[in-house]
Amino acid sequence: MRYDVIVVGGGPAGAVAARDCARAGLETIILEKEYHPRPKTCAGGITAAAISLLDTAIPPEIVEARCSSFRGFYGDRVVESDQEQDFMVLVSREIFDLWLVSLAQSAGAELKQGECVTAVTAGEREVTVSTTKGDYTGLMVIGADGVNSMVAKIVRKPFNKKDLAFCVCADVLRGEEEGSWRESIEIYYGQLPMGYGWIFPKKGCLSVGMGAWLSNVSGIKEALSNFLRERGMSGEQRLKGGFIPLGGMARPAVSDRVILAGDAAGYADPFTGEGIRYAIASGRLAAATAASLIARGVPLTRLNLGVYERNCYQQFGSDLKASLFIARMFQHFPKALFGMYFSCREPFEQSLQILQGKTGYRQFYRWLLWHIPGMLRRCI
Ligand SMILES: Cc1cc2nc3c(=O)[nH]c(=O)nc-3n(C[C@H](O)[C@H](O)[C@H](O)COP(=O)(O)OP(=O)(O)OC[C@H]3O[C@@H](n4cnc5c(N)ncnc54)[C@H](O)[C@@H]3O)c2cc1C
Repeated sequence: MRYDVIVVGGGPAGAVAARDCARAGLETIILEKEYHPRPKTCAGGITAAAISLLDTAIPPEIVEARCSSFRGFYGDRVVESDQEQDFMVLVSREIFDLWLVSLAQSAGAELKQGECVTAVTAGEREVTVSTTKGDYTGLMVIGADGVNSMVAKIVRKPFNKKDLAFCVCADVLRGEEEGSWRESIEIYYGQLPMGYGWIFPKKGCLSVGMGAWLSNVSGIKEALSNFLRERGMSGEQRLKGGFIPLGGMARPAVSDRVILAGDAAGYADPFTGEGIRYAIASGRLAAATAASLIARGVPLTRLNLGVYERNCYQQFGSDLKASLFIARMFQHFPKALFGMYFSCREPFEQSLQILQGKTGYRQFYRWLLWHIPGMLRRCI
């Protein structure tokens, strides 16, 4: 059988892309190397902005916690904020991704699991995807196979090390030692140069982790072990690690008959590491591009697929660029900027508005430039 669209990877980007392709009437298949529910190293924070992109409500039974309050720590300084609306829900990625894939199947997409894609060959009339179990042909491929994408090999160079962050995390059983834990997220800045630690509440456990740009992560596992121990969470934890691509939009995301989405394209927020929102956004744009070009019989060349890159840039790319710029400012002037952040509440309130999708990094960047002189004067 020849498919219209072959989606490689059944994470958020791939599942959402496949759902939308199938809804548009395209013959769609997802090739996933694992079996859902498969393990996924992630803190499981889905922001309100990400949820609003899904166009389907997350079933309450898979939501582990709803967070409307935030606590930020920097040395002995603390900032707290209670929002009127939830800005994040916490899920288990295993269950969340299983649900997303089931939506794609309900829409008519086929799912093949336990098949690792090993090669993609784009020809003049079709594309061939080889897996550990066989070959599939289609009109085009959506490569949504994560940060170590195989499909990306025919689109772009590997990610530069300076564009990657590394995170480690552990699920800590919730017990007596956490005492008066409430459903708020906690972020601990300054634990590593240009990185942060987090504690996110889940149903039976807390997701505790730490991440930073790759150039700053030496000793990250020891730092997290100490962080856990200091909070009476020392037990036997199994730390898991993973990369997040944070280089903004500077790489190609399409080639002939191929579109990359989500982490495979490098779409994650350089300031916070949030990736699920951009996986959903780019998965949907990839599907819309495929549906539109295939319906009109437009050749699926790199040039014509370029409309996808432009749409991504328009929807969130210039925001990621502004976020990268802000992240670099913090890299160069950490003390001054964290000092300012923790002396005035406004920057935190602005950041929480970004997670809710009420404002974006471009506006925040302009806001920062306008307010930095005054805030620095107040905190010196
Ligand atoms: C420790 C950590 C914590 C994080 N916490 C958060 C958070 O709280 N909130 C947030 O928004 N983001 C978070 N992220 C980032 C987030 O996990 C990613 O941005 C997101 O999963 C990207 O989705 P995706 O669909 O592009 O890729 P993935 O979720 O990685 O899915 C890719 C899929 O492709 C499959 N695959 C890979 N290779 C092949 C192959 N060759 N053949 C077939 N299938 C293949 C994989 O098995 C996987 O199912 C975190 C990342 C890390 C490392």
